[in-house]
Formats: sequence, structure tokens, C-alpha cells
Amino acid sequence: MIFALVGNQNSGKTTLFNTLTGANQRVGNFPGVTVDSKTGEIRRHKDCTVVDLPGIYSIRPYSAEEIVTRDFVLEQNPDAIINIVDATNIERNLYLTLQLIELKIPMVVALNMMDEVRGNGGTVDVAKISEMLGVPVVPISASKNEGISELINTLISTAKSKRLPSVYDFCAPGPVHRCIHAVSHLIEDHAQQRGISARFAAIKLIEGDLDFSDKLNLSENELHTIGHNVQEMESECKMDANAALADMRYSFIETVCLAAVVKCSESREHKRSVKIDSLLTNKYLALPIFFSILILIFWLTFSVLGSFLSDLLLQGIETLTLFVDTGLKNYGINPVIGNFIVNGIFVGVGSVVSFLPLIIVLFLFLSILEDTGYMARVAFVMDKILRKIGLSGRSFVPMIIGFGCSVPAIMATRTLSSERDRKLTVLLTPFMSCSAKIPIYAVFCAAFFPKHATLVISGLYIFGVVVGILVALLLNKTVFRGKPVPFVMEMPNYRMPSIKSVMLLLWEKAKDFLQKAFTVIFVATIIIWFLGSFDAKLNFVDNQSNSLLASVGKLLSPIFAPLGLGDWKVTTSLISGLSAKEAVISTMSVLAGTTLDKLDGVLATMFTPISAISFLVFTLLYTPCVAAIAAFRRELNSLSKTLLIIILQCSVAWICAFAVYRLCHLLVSLNTTLNIFDLLILAAVLVCVVLAVTYIIKQKKKGRCVGCGSCEGCLSPCQNKKK
Ligand code: GDP
Ligand code: MG
Repeated sequence: MIFALVGNQNSGKTTLFNTLTGANQRVGNFPGVTVDSKTGEIRRHKDCTVVDLPGIYSIRPYSAEEIVTRDFVLEQNPDAIINIVDATNIERNLYLTLQLIELKIPMVVALNMMDEVRGNGGTVDVAKISEMLGVPVVPISASKNEGISELINTLISTAKSKRLPSVYDFCAPGPVHRCIHAVSHLIEDHAQQRGISARFAAIKLIEGDLDFSDKLNLSENELHTIGHNVQEMESECKMDANAALADMRYSFIETVCLAAVVKCSESREHKRSVKIDSLLTNKYLALPIFFSILILIFWLTFSVLGSFLSDLLLQGIETLTLFVDTGLKNYGINPVIGNFIVNGIFVGVGSVVSFLPLIIVLFLFLSILEDTGYMARVAFVMDKILRKIGLSGRSFVPMIIGFGCSVPAIMATRTLSSERDRKLTVLLTPFMSCSAKIPIYAVFCAAFFPKHATLVISGLYIFGVVVGILVALLLNKTVFRGKPVPFVMEMPNYRMPSIKSVMLLLWEKAKDFLQKAFTVIFVATIIIWFLGSFDAKLNFVDNQSNSLLASVGKLLSPIFAPLGLGDWKVTTSLISGLSAKEAVISTMSVLAGTTLDKLDGVLATMFTPISAISFLVFTLLYTPCVAAIAAFRRELNSLSKTLLIIILQCSVAWICAFAVYRLCHLLVSLNTTLNIFDLLILAAVLVCVVLAVTYIIKQKKKGRCVGCGSCEGCLSPCQNKKK
């Protein structure tokens, strides 16, 4: 049996899915986390499969996730629908429930978050709701594991007996009622042939869903009659068809809630959220608070906690490498094989694995921010800024996910309803610095800027965001002209982060990272070791600069020479970074033939502090990795566009690295008494001052009458207000 899990965003679908199946899917306290469907077996009921679908508010094809959910329910014929309803927000959630009932598929309503309702002194008359809706209703709390076994039993019995919803008509007699009946009658045969409920199809046609007139194969004549019916209804109701249908559904929901729901005045969670929001989304404080939190997190990760743990792990790995090396030598193993094991595998993979703690610590903090519901606020605060570059706050969710990994971030753009916003966001997300780049930052900061690690790394993250914004701005004025769609996102109440879901996320991250280290990076390391140890005639070379790899690197290094990165070893590691960004460091270690602790010294011979900055900027901005390229290809569905993106990213990276490299040189040559950090900080402060002044001037201008002629409704204080 197949059960489809359908409900509003943030209603607890994934939490219920995890509870039912024992799976570890990602739960987040902000909308748009689940973007494609996930399937799992119910525990102790191996013949029952649940499908976790993306959250939707109605079955209308507004966004990709609505289409995924609608098509699954209509075309995969699930045995029953589990409609999860957030009981703390019952009116809005029931809107979807009514639409689902019209589908005439066996259905059970799971009334979730009952713990919060009860905690606030509210009650729900479950029997009454069930009677009025004509479907079984089970009160549950997915996160507290309450009511789950009852839900499973009800679900199985409903699916087995194929019990259909017993009430369909939510409509009081009147024009809407008449119209639905007339249209259902007209298309009954077509709908029956396609196995779709006639009433559901009729409502879709009245809503003007063009997909449905195609699906049902209607004749011109029939379409004309339907149009006529709809027009008649609209003129009688004095509103358009969609509004009339929404009005019909909400009137019914109102009746249900009046009869069955006792609301608490205002929930504690909501009161608390409003209080916290007055500070965190305050007009002036919101952004400074957000950036301070980010910098605090980076500091804790890269200078205190994460780096301490990483060092510890590194020592362990080095001891192991030394132990294996001595062991192999004592055993008298073939030196080429010994070199392969120690300098290929241990050095390459080991150098990457030692960064695991940094990544775990960073994600511990980020997932706490996300799970409390703070990230949803940041999306809201960012909306205003993003709108200026032609995006909406919705695009912020993929951007934040991009700090973890570009691949899910590119997938998360599916939540955006306009194709233009989506493409622009896909282009933008890879500029957000992903976690795979952390090892590179850590190694370079330790080698060149040990005292300024937090500053450099925060700077890189912010620089990525700024470049992304500039690129978006440019594209918005050229290729992607247009306006972003309005931003509507639910602000969830602040919740204590659940330890389980934070741990799950960390485990996922660690697993992904280790998997990558032992697969992609392992293979890349072996290839690099091989190419770096043999020449074109497959002779083992003593001096790497005669190797195959050196010839390839030397071929490409002129491109990077203007960035101060002309060394063939640097070029090679940048190329191997295309397989996965962690491979940049593993390649450097293999090429340097040394473990991480001694890499500093080798790096100092390959880079100056300024070329190190140029290198960091280039790695920050160029194409993330093959997995991301595959994701571009999948989401944009075009090879040529994917190639264009790669060219765009590499060019942007090259230009920025070149600009930074030249600028730093210029600054240093201008003033030798100041060190490069003072100068960078000075530059940043100057930029901030210029931005602030332009902003203030703009605001001032807004207040003055510019003689636009539309003074009538204008509220700005204006001396020469024309009448
Ligand atoms: P989805 O967007 O529908 O998949 O929702 P999620 O499963 O990601 O959950 C959204 C938020 O609601 C998370 O913060 C959960 O911890 C929380 N949540 C889910 N179920 C319950 C519940 O029964 N009670 C309470 N208090 N919180 C819940
Ligand atoms: Mg979800």
C-alpha cells in the first residue's frame, strides 16, 4: 500500500515521515526544506510505503512543488492520503484538506501539533470535525510520538476498505453551487474515462486550470458552455471565480471551526515569538544582529572550537601515517607501493578528513539557527535587499543552504514559483561559499594569516555574497529583466531546536563528507599521485617537475600567471578542485609530498600573502564541483546553459582574483608602513561609509516632493503639495 503525505509547509510532514518510517530526513523550522518526494516503509508494516511530498497550500500549479505533489496524488494513485494538518493553524490548513477531499481518494486527516494546542489551553472536538469533513481524523503529535499507532491503524483500515470521504459538497446553495453542479454534469463522462473525480475536475476548470481542459479532451463547444457558466456565476457573486471558490471553502471552514475548535486566546509560543521578533527583525538592528551572529559563529568555528578539534584529529592522523610508514619500510615493501600508500592515500585522504570537526561545528551552529526558526526571519529581513537586485526573500533559503553545499541549494530553488527568479537564484547560489572550501581556507589562513583567520574567512564568505549580488544585479539589468514575484512566507513560531534533528543533520553532513573523502577524493588523490609520479613513458620520476602532471599544469599555468598563481602545482590543484573542492588541499599535500603540518612551509615557497589571497578568492568563486555541474544540468535542463554558467563562474572568479591581486599590490606599494590588513579594513570601512551616505541621501530625496504629480495620496511631508 502506498500512502501520500500531503500538507502545508512546516506542518510537520517530514517529522511524521521520520516517526513513521524511522528515516532520517531533514526537518527544518522554515518552509521549503523538502523539495522532492522521499519514500520509506512504515516500521513494523513492511507492506506500507509512505511518500513525503513537498509542502503546499493548495492544489494549484503555482510552483514546482505544487506540481510535484498534485501529479503524485493524481497519477500515482496512492491507496490513501495522509493529510497532515497543523492544529495550531487549523483554518488555513483545512483549505488544502477541502481540496484533497474533492479528489475522492481514501484519506485520513492527521491533526498534528496537538501538544502545542493542549499546552495553550485550546481544544479540538475531533469527532465533530471528522463528522463534518466526512473523513477519519486522528489527533497526533509527530515530534512527541503521540497518536502514531492509532494513525497507522486508521490509515490501514481506511485504505483496505477503500473508504472514500463521505462529504463532498461544502457549498451552501447559491450561484457557486449551481455552477459547480452544471460543470460537473457536463464533463462527467470525460472525467470518468480519465479516472478523475468529476467534481474536482469541474472545480479545476472553473479555476481556469488549463492543464485540465487538455487532460479531459474537451470540445470547443463544451469549453464555451463552461465559460458561460463561470461568467454567470462571477456576475452573480460579483467576484472572480477563484475568489468565489475560496470564499466558499473558507465559509465552510469557518462553520467547522466554530463547531469544533476552541481556540486559546493567543498561544504562548506566538507571544514569545512576537517579543523576540521585535528585537531580531527590528528595522535597524536586524542586519547588524544577523552579521554579528555569523561572525561569532565563524570565530567559534575557525579560531576556537572547530580548529582545536581539527588539530587534535590531525595529530592522530599524522601519528597513524608515521606508524604505517615505518611499518611498511620495516617490512621492506616496494618503495613505489610504499610511496603510493603513504604519499598518495594517507596524505591525500588524511589531509581532507582532518577538517571534519570544522564542518561539524559550523553546521551545529547553522542548524541551530535554522531549527529555532531564525533563518525564516532572516529571509524576511533580506527580502528588502534582495528585491533591489531583482530577487525575493524566497531566494535566501537556497542561498543559506548553499553555505552547506551547492547541490541541495540548487535543488532548493524549486520552491521558487517564477521561472525567472529560479534561474537567477541557480546562478547565484554557487557564489555562497560551500563547506567543501573550509579546508582550503583553514590551511591558507594557518600558513599566511594565523592571527587574522576569523577576519579573512568571514571576509571571504561576505565577499562571495557580495559578488553573487553584483552578478545578479548585472543579470537583472540584462538577461533576466523583470520583477520578482511577491514574497510570502510563513514565519514559524520560534521553537527550541530539537536535539534529534540537529544531530541528524550533523550526522548527514559527516557521512556525506566522509563518503566524499573516501570516494571522489580518494580517486582524485590516486590519479594525482599517479600523474605526479610517472612521466609520459610511465617511468617513475624522482623530480615531480618532469611528471605528466607537471606538463599539463605547465600548459595551463599561463592563464593563472596574471593572478600570481603561475606555479604548475597551483594550477593542477585548482583543476583537481573541479572534482570536489576538498581535493585542492589533498592535491597540494600529495604534490608537496608532505603531511598537513609541514604543508605551511611548502606553501610559503609557492605563494606570497597577496597571491594567497588571490588564490582564496579564485577558489571561492569558480565552479564548485562536478556534482554541482550535474545539478545545474538537471535544474536548467540544458547543456549549453550549463556550459555558459561554468564559463561565467570561471570568468567572474578570474576577474575578481585579478582585481584583488592588483589592488593589494597597489595598496602595498602606496604605503609600506601599513600592513595589508589595515589597508583591507580601511577599504571595507570606506565602502561602508560610501554605502551609508548614498542610502541617507536617497532617503532624504524620497521625503522631498519631486513634482511627480501624484501628490494626492502621497504621505511624505512635502511643502509644495499640490491639490
Ligand atoms: P514540514 O515542512 O511539513 O516537513 O515540517 P517539518 O517536519 O520540517 O517540521 C516543522 C517544524 O515543526 C519543526 O521545527 C518540527 O520540530 C516541528 N514539529 C513537527 N511536529 C511537531 C509536533 O507534533 N509538535 C510540535 N510542538 N512541533 C512539531
Ligand atoms: Mg519537510
